[in-house]
Amino acid sequence: MALDIGRTAFEREVRRAHVEGRPVPTVAIVGGGLSGLATAIQLVRSGVRSFTIVEQSDGVGGTWRDNVYPGAACDVPSHLYSFSFAPKTDWSRRFAEQPEILSYAEDLVDRFHLGPHLRLGTTVASARYDDEDGTWHLALRTADGAEQLVADTVVFACGQLNRPHVPDLDGLDGFAGPSWHSARWDHAVDLTGKDVAVIGSGASAIQFVPPVAEAAGTTKIFQRSPNYVGPKKDRPYRAATRRLLQRVGPLRAAYRWWIYWSLEVRWVSFRRDSWAGRKLQDLFATGIRNEVVCDRLPAEAVVPDFPIGCKRILISNDWYPAILRPDVTVVDTPVTRVEPDAVVTADGVRHHADVLIFGTGFATTDFLSHIPVTGQDGRRLADAWEEGAHAYLGSAVAGFPNCYILYGPNTNLGHNSILFMVERQLNLVLQALALQTRSLTGAAGVAVTVSDTAYERDDRHTQKAMSRTAWAGSCTSWYKDAAGRITNNWPTWTVRYWWDTLRIREADFDVSTDRPRSS
Ligand code: NAP
Repeated sequence: MALDIGRTAFEREVRRAHVEGRPVPTVAIVGGGLSGLATAIQLVRSGVRSFTIVEQSDGVGGTWRDNVYPGAACDVPSHLYSFSFAPKTDWSRRFAEQPEILSYAEDLVDRFHLGPHLRLGTTVASARYDDEDGTWHLALRTADGAEQLVADTVVFACGQLNRPHVPDLDGLDGFAGPSWHSARWDHAVDLTGKDVAVIGSGASAIQFVPPVAEAAGTTKIFQRSPNYVGPKKDRPYRAATRRLLQRVGPLRAAYRWWIYWSLEVRWVSFRRDSWAGRKLQDLFATGIRNEVVCDRLPAEAVVPDFPIGCKRILISNDWYPAILRPDVTVVDTPVTRVEPDAVVTADGVRHHADVLIFGTGFATTDFLSHIPVTGQDGRRLADAWEEGAHAYLGSAVAGFPNCYILYGPNTNLGHNSILFMVERQLNLVLQALALQTRSLTGAAGVAVTVSDTAYERDDRHTQKAMSRTAWAGSCTSWYKDAAGRITNNWPTWTVRYWWDTLRIREADFDVSTDRPRSS
């Protein structure tokens, strides 16, 4: 099912270019998270070494480097959480914890000799397409000053969850104790015996609250909305199973596909008002009512009032036991302000706090807004996305030649592994790179750009399909922008995405070779 069409097409063009003495595109990859590394690996596997990975932090791993909070783990089964072309075969448990995933990312650097291509501690301040010579100019900032990186192609692999969102609460600056966001955990602070206030109760909070509650004196969770939280079928692999999966490739492949399909069928519950969705919702709600609701935690505090799937469905075995602890309180009155030693809620109650932790998610819907990106004829990405971010198959924007976005708009999922989507995006991107390489000579630059027509058509289809999903239901979520447009998620089966990205539709792209090349 993987069908490595993109990589083989690109590899063929790279070989041909070498034989004919023509150049191959140079590539700037922005971001050293899993999708940036995957891009680099596919370039290496295609025979290309002319690329640079620019990463602002001091190491690779992206979200798995940032999120080092206690309890951080993946909610996608491990054996589907590595790239098929760079598998990790020795996962220690069914749902890997953060250190194991980070070490997978770090290991990829060694396995594929990516070290010399890494520019760590380097921020991309802006990216500009030069119409004159058909190259991308990236303004880089490092501790030593500013410099420029010039490349034929740019791949933005910055993720959707990389900029922490901290609500602008009145009085927050005056809070006297330590305070941090879940993605910037301060391990230097000993929580033992402290009164800890946690704002937010989403995917990260359900993971870090149980260990926090274990250590703290008291824990108060300021919750805006409860979530559907189901059991996590997690456990370490037995030594024999682990060995078998490690050594028997076909067994591992079969297991991976079994995981893929068992997640994929869940899509039926993500269709708006579907029978399967309603049944699943009843199942969750009944379970919560039977096992969690009590005097301290009335139904309004724990049973969501929105359709299941509208926000991410969470899995945890220790969230409900944690909020049932006598030293843990769920406060569902809105927070109005922060005082030096307290969080104050709308009912006027002061909740004493020594430490304040935000599990309030990320700035998710404005995508590359932190990097001014300028395309053909001075077109600014911010203007192109004025009415909401979108990209052709989540990957390319009209007016921005040789520019690709991984884990871009409308590629996030609620039911399957995002690494699958990244692999499929790369299959498309490598075919576009093959088009670019085919026409690249020493004398002329090549601009491969998705056409305006294809770009708009793709968006219309995506948004039409979106209206039939659970995400379009009545809830707020990080998938929707301020205007209510769903900018983050893919609206249907991932098999459909596999099909749509399998073979590039050349008619959807303009390939122009009329740009002079300066070098
Ligand atoms: P999240 O799930 O969006 O949760 C944010 C929480 O903060 C929500 O409870 C939200 O309430 C609350 N909140 C936001 N702004 C607030 C405000 N102004 N006042 C009060 N509460 C506020 O964010 P996250 O926990 O950082 O997770 C984000 C995503 O990261 C997840 O959906 C998932 O895709 C990914 N993630 C994955 C894993 C994994 O296992 N693979 C683990 C952690 C995170 P509302 O719900 O009412 O908006």
